[in-house]
Amino acid sequence: MSFSFTLDSTDPDSRARAGRLSTPHGEVLTPVFMPVGTQGTVKAVAPRDLRELGAQIVLGNAYHLYLRPSHETIARLGGLHRFTGWDGPMLTDSGGFQVFSLAHIRKVTEEGVLFRSHLDGSQHFLSPEVVMEVEEALGADIAMALDQPAPYPSSYEETRAATELTHRWAERCLAAHRRPDQARPGGQALFGIVQGGLEPDLRRWSAQTLVQMGFPGYAIGGLSLGEPKERTWAMVDIVAPLLPPEKPRYLMGMGSPVDLLEGVVRGIDMFDCSFPTRIARNGALLTPEGRVNIRNARFRDEAGPVLPDCDCATCSTFSAAYLHHLFVSQELLAYQLASVHNLRFMVRLMERARAAIVAGTFEELYHTFVAGYQESDPEVRAEQKARWLAARQRKDVLTAQQTRAQTSAPAD
Ligand SMILES: [Zn+2]
Repeated sequence: MSFSFTLDSTDPDSRARAGRLSTPHGEVLTPVFMPVGTQGTVKAVAPRDLRELGAQIVLGNAYHLYLRPSHETIARLGGLHRFTGWDGPMLTDSGGFQVFSLAHIRKVTEEGVLFRSHLDGSQHFLSPEVVMEVEEALGADIAMALDQPAPYPSSYEETRAATELTHRWAERCLAAHRRPDQARPGGQALFGIVQGGLEPDLRRWSAQTLVQMGFPGYAIGGLSLGEPKERTWAMVDIVAPLLPPEKPRYLMGMGSPVDLLEGVVRGIDMFDCSFPTRIARNGALLTPEGRVNIRNARFRDEAGPVLPDCDCATCSTFSAAYLHHLFVSQELLAYQLASVHNLRFMVRLMERARAAIVAGTFEELYHTFVAGYQESDPEVRAEQKARWLAARQRKDVLTAQQTRAQTSAPAD
């Protein structure tokens, strides 16, 4: 099976859509949450458990795997699927974000980026061509182009320069990629990444430039780097309508359960975030009302599961009191059981979103969930409600913006 994307259903009340992505390792129903397996493992969760909790596609990270154990080693051992024991669809990110956030950058040039490893200080050079070689060796079903996200905050000129470089690197990635998705079964789809920081005109320009290059899918990168949430969503509102409806859209590195629904309502199909597994290891478990701290004394004698209507393997088997005990005793099983619950929560939320889109009831699900879920910051929740009230109006505004949007580079 080669790579393709089809739309099954679109929501009449918003931009939300239900689609299906065909990859050489199977089909992915969208919208989809993709568990993050940075170092070739979703932390504390085995592939068997990922399958059981309904995960459809798993991420790997080219930067981390290039540094350790190296893409050559993984290729020799049969590729990332064989190496990790996950035989379903996989996506690798290019490492652009990690190079710019984790590594000690020595020099960014037109050619690529010279950096020192965060592991041992060894010096490395990544270019679009090298990244394509790494991702092809890893052999995921979807590879990401090398990009340069503009850090937050950045000046307009810095953002523009990073966006321009991202575009030139995207072209070089396309030219260097030797496993084009449609050419033969077993190929790999290369997604382009829209940048442009928090500048509306640069975001529009980036979306239009990448669309002209003709990628089989598009990601929106460089968001959720510390900027206020309303600015994040304003950028998604600008970019998503400019992307071709027949191609999958991936919002990188977001986020919370509410972030997922906020993305879905704006027409995003794919999400990834280490958030659910990261907070799970701290004993924070997801519920429709928000996260609860399982270490809290109120769970000490709780005979029922953490979340009564949860169908995950953890809630089906263990009491909240047992999880509480594992966490306060610092038992290793705590990490696995909590991670399984949180991942199932995210996966199930997207399953419910998809079913609601198909049934024409997504608006109700979105409204109910967002109103009921308490983010850690109550102000965030108030903003979400206000945004929902403005949603219909925004939809009209966006259509007008799309019509007016220019296709050339912004003026100095
Ligand atoms: Zn559960």
